[in-house]
Amino acid sequence: MITLDLARRPAILSWEGRFKDSSIETKFLTGQSTQVANRIRVISVLTGLAYLSGMYSDHIVLGSSKEYSLMVLVRGVTCLCALLCFLSTYVKRRDRIAPIVTFAYFMAITVSECTELALRPEFSNQIIPFLVLVMIVYYVFFPVRLSLQITGGICATILYSISLSLGAADMSVYLLVNVVFLLVNLLGIYVAYTMNVAARREYHTKLELLETNDRLKIEIDERKRASDKLTEMATIDELTQIYNRRNFINLAKIEMERARDLELEVSLLFMDIDYFKRINDTYGHSMGDVVLQRLSAVIGSSIREVDIFGRFGGEEFAILLPGCSLEHAEAKAQQICELVSSLNFAVDKPESPVGAFSTTISIGVAACVPKICDDFESIMHQADTALYQAKEEGRNRVVLKRI
Ligand code: GH3
Ligand code: MG
Ligand code: MG
Repeated sequence: MITLDLARRPAILSWEGRFKDSSIETKFLTGQSTQVANRIRVISVLTGLAYLSGMYSDHIVLGSSKEYSLMVLVRGVTCLCALLCFLSTYVKRRDRIAPIVTFAYFMAITVSECTELALRPEFSNQIIPFLVLVMIVYYVFFPVRLSLQITGGICATILYSISLSLGAADMSVYLLVNVVFLLVNLLGIYVAYTMNVAARREYHTKLELLETNDRLKIEIDERKRASDKLTEMATIDELTQIYNRRNFINLAKIEMERARDLELEVSLLFMDIDYFKRINDTYGHSMGDVVLQRLSAVIGSSIREVDIFGRFGGEEFAILLPGCSLEHAEAKAQQICELVSSLNFAVDKPESPVGAFSTTISIGVAACVPKICDDFESIMHQADTALYQAKEEGRNRVVLKRI
C-alpha cells in the first residue's frame, strides 16, 4: 500500500504534471500501461499505413527518379519507426522503451514531412495541417514526459522552419507558419500538462480512498474484536470458560419457553462442590481455581450439545437438560457425581502431607412436566431445595424433586 503524505499534497506534482515521488509515478504509469499500449498500437498502425500509401502518390508525381528513391527511403525509415513503436508495446519494459521509440517516430515523421516539402513543394498546403495534426497527436496521445514532448515539438518546428526557408516560400507565409507552429506547441504543452495533472489527481484521489478504506477496515476489525471480547466477557465466566450466571439464566429461560411451546420435559441439575472451602484452605486458592476449571471441563464434556451448562457462582454449577425426564436427569446427575469423585488432583507442594486429593459434589435435580410447570424460577427453586437436602443428608449424593 502506498502511503501518501498529505502534508506535502500541494507539492506532490512536478512542473511536468508528474508525481515527484518516483515510486508513485511508476505505479501510476504501470496502471496506465495497457491503455497507453493500445493507443500506441492504433496510432502507429494508422500513420504507418498512411506513410506507406504515400509512396504511390510520390511515384505518380516524381516518377522513377532520384527524388522518388529518396522519398522511398525516408518513408521506409518512418514506417520502420512505426513498426518499432508497434512492437515496443509488446516488450516487457515497454514503459521505459515507449517514450524513446515514440520520440524517434515523431522525429522520423518530421524529417519525412520536411523532405516531402523540399521534394514536392506543391504539397505544402497539405503538409502544414498534417504536421500540425501530428504535433497535436504527439502532445496529447503519446505517453512521453512533457520535457521530451516540448523537445520534440521545438525540434519539429525548427526543422520545418529550416526546410521552409530553403524553399521558395513567401516571407509572410513563412512567418505565419512559424507563428502557427508556435501556437500549436503552446496549446500542446497546455493540453498535455492539464491532462497529466487531471489523470494524476484522479489516481491520487483513488489512492487516498483506498487508504481510507484500508484504515476503516482495520478500525472495523478492531471494533468487532473489542465488541466480541465485551460480549464474551458479558456471557462467559472467565475462570471456567462456561456460561456465567446471567447468561445461563437467559438461555435457560429461552429454552424453557421453547420446551413449553413444544410440550417437552425439562430438567435442571443444580450442583455444589462439597467442602470446597477446605480445599482452598488446605491447598491454596489457586488449587481451588484448578479444581473449578477441571470440574467444569470434565462435566462440560460429559453433557450433550443442547444442554446448557453454567457457573452459578463460587463453586455452584447448573445444567439445564431440555427434553430430559427426571429419571434421565437423575442418571446424568449420578454419572456426574461419580465422575467428580473419580478425579484426582495432584498437590505440587513438598510440605503437603498428601500427594493428591479428590473431591465430591452434591446435586439437586428438578424436572418440569409440560402444562404443570413452565417457569424457570419454579424449577430453580425446586432444584435448590433438592441440593440443600443433599447437603443435609451427608453430601456426595443426588436428590430429586418433581414438580
Ligand atoms: P458445602 O459443602 O456446604 O458447600 O461447603 P463449602 O465449603 O463448599 O461451602 P462454602 O460456601 O462455605 O464455601 C465456598 C467457598 O468457595 C468459599 C469461597 O472462598 C470459595 N470460592 C468462591 N469462588 C471461588 C473461586 O473463584 N475460586 C476459589 N478458589 N474459591 C472460590
Ligand atoms: Mg456453595
Ligand atoms: Mg460447597
